[in-house]
Formats: sequence, C-alpha cells, structure tokens
Amino acid sequence: MKRTGWYERRARRSGPPGKALGLWVALAVGAPASGATQPRTAPSPEVHDSHFHLTNYVQQGTDIHDFLKIMGTKVGRVALFGIPLQQTWAYGNTGDFAPTYYLQTDAPLYYYSFTDAFIAMAYRSLTKEEQARFDPMITGFNPADMYAVDHIKRVLQTFPGVFSGIGEFTIHKEFVSAKVAGEIASLTNPALDRVLDFAGEAGLVVILHNDVNMPFPKPGQDPYPVVQLAQLLKRHTKTTVIWAHCGLGRIVRPVEDQVGMVRRALANPELAHVYFDISWDETAKYLMASPETVQATADLINRYPDRILFGTDEVAPTAQAKYLKVYDLYAPLFAKLTAEASENVRKGNYERLFDEARRRVRAWEKANPK
Ligand SMILES: [Zn+2]
Repeated sequence: MKRTGWYERRARRSGPPGKALGLWVALAVGAPASGATQPRTAPSPEVHDSHFHLTNYVQQGTDIHDFLKIMGTKVGRVALFGIPLQQTWAYGNTGDFAPTYYLQTDAPLYYYSFTDAFIAMAYRSLTKEEQARFDPMITGFNPADMYAVDHIKRVLQTFPGVFSGIGEFTIHKEFVSAKVAGEIASLTNPALDRVLDFAGEAGLVVILHNDVNMPFPKPGQDPYPVVQLAQLLKRHTKTTVIWAHCGLGRIVRPVEDQVGMVRRALANPELAHVYFDISWDETAKYLMASPETVQATADLINRYPDRILFGTDEVAPTAQAKYLKVYDLYAPLFAKLTAEASENVRKGNYERLFDEARRRVRAWEKANPK
C-alpha cells in the first residue's frame, strides 16, 4: 500500500505546482492555506524521524504505546529499530555494577538477533492506523558474517508486512567496533556486499553508520574509511543507502572540508543512491558549532534538498522534550532553509524513500513466501 503524506495529497489536489509550493510555504510557517477545503482529521505532523532506537544497549526501552504518546501529533512517522549489539555484563569486569552503555565497561558487545523479533512484535501490537506511522528496520545481523543476508531474508519471511529496511548497523564506529566479539567488521568484507546486494534486490532502505575517520588521526593521514566507503557504495548503485550522521561521531571530527566532501558525494552521479541523515546531538554539535557552519550546512541542503533527512537518533526516550532535543537544536538551521528544502528534510524525503521501500519489500515478500 502506498501511503501518501497529508501535505502531499493536499498539494496534489491543489493543482499547479506554483500553488502547491505556496501551500508548502504556508505550511512551513504554520499559516492556514487559503482556499483549502480538505477537511483535516488530524493536525499535520511537523516532522518525521528517520533514525530512532526504541531500545538501548541492554535491550531495554520505551513501550511502543508510550512512545506513540511521546510522538504526539508533532512527529508523523518514525524509522524504528532497536540496537543490534548487546553489552555483556561481565561480572569479572564490573562486578555488581550492571553496565547499560558501551562506554561503562571493557566487556565485549555481541550481536543480539532477537532484537528483530522484539521490534516486529512491538509493531504488531499496534492498530493498523498506528502501524502506518512506523517503518521497522532489521538490525540483528553480523555484517562480518557471510550468513548475515540469510538472517535478513528469514526475518522478512517470518514477519511479512513489517519491515522497510535494514539498520542502523555499524561498520566503523569509535569505541564500538573494537568491542564487538568475533571478526571485526570491514567495508571490504564480501559479507557486506551480499547484504547490500540483497537490500537492493528487495528494496530495503539501508541506514549505515560508518565514521568518516578514526578518532585521532595523525596529521595528513588518509581517511581510509571514506575511500573504502565510496568504493563500496559505487559497487551497489541499486541500493538506497542513508549514511547516518554524515559520518560524524562523538570524537570523530569532521575531516577537513567535511561540507566539501559531502557536496562532492552529492554531486557525484555514481552516488545518486546515497542520502545523508543529520541525526544525533553529537552531529548537531559540529553542524551547529558557529554561524559559519550553520550557513554552510544550510547552503548545502538548499542545493541538494532531496538528499538529506532529519532524524533524532534518540534511544528509549521518556518524554517529548528529550525526544525532540535534536530537532530543537536544529531550529536555527531549519530557519535558513528554503520552504521546499525544510519540508523535504523534515518529511518529504522520508516519505519518498520509505513509501517506495514499503511497496518494494511487500512485493519481494509476496514473491518469496516462506
Ligand atoms: Zn543511531
């Protein structure tokens, strides 16, 4: 089923593009659209969230019914996932202290595949109308395992009608990658190629976390993760990939000329299938660091309004103020966007990508029953 957003349906009914654009502008500033006769059953949401973790590193989180209340009428749709990695509570390492975050212990993380069943069951506990607000994602696979792709297929066939994509999963991430038990993930591992090939075949949206660089590079050191990532993405041009956080991290700083790097990627026709999200307060920290960084980011988004998505990257929030902290941090950025770019980053790009994923993944499931 193709679900179209309220503003899209409304814009379409209003005729010529000029008028539709006027409506967008009116919506962006919150003014009622003149001459609109369409009855509104619910207020138009302000934003969709392309990056949200319902559960944390020890698989605990917010009840999905409570989360709907936190979304309220402000957030329309959410790309929903847990966290694929479980932090071990190693008694020998922290004793009675039960770590809930990867920075709280030296004990390893391991892939917790049950997260996918957990997310699917949470989704299935909702009414049809509530389900329409979520795009669940598969995360519980090890991207260094040649069998990873089989897990993804099994999840689709066990829970048909649920998932829209895979991720957020991680290849290079400060502090995290080195703690994962077993073979370390790599952008050059054919296991990852198999996963991305299948995502392209089935129409799954991919949300990939890959740091743009190592945490403390020596001056002049080649940021090999960028080079390897570009090669990987160019091998999978039929797969829709969202590069989470534009590659930034807590201490992974922007490579010199980060905006230039992202602009070159957006301009490259071989990377037309690649999108960026501006999720995570750690990302906002860099993008919103000064009036100059805000302006440079706004200029970039205004130039490529179809390629950037908003996301929160919140983990198991308990209240709307905390959940939308990142959204509020970006207010000065949104103020500098054109009405069209603002609408696209907040909602339009999400709807285009995830509506298409829903349509294609349902078709794959129908053609490949268990
Ligand atoms: Zn995340």
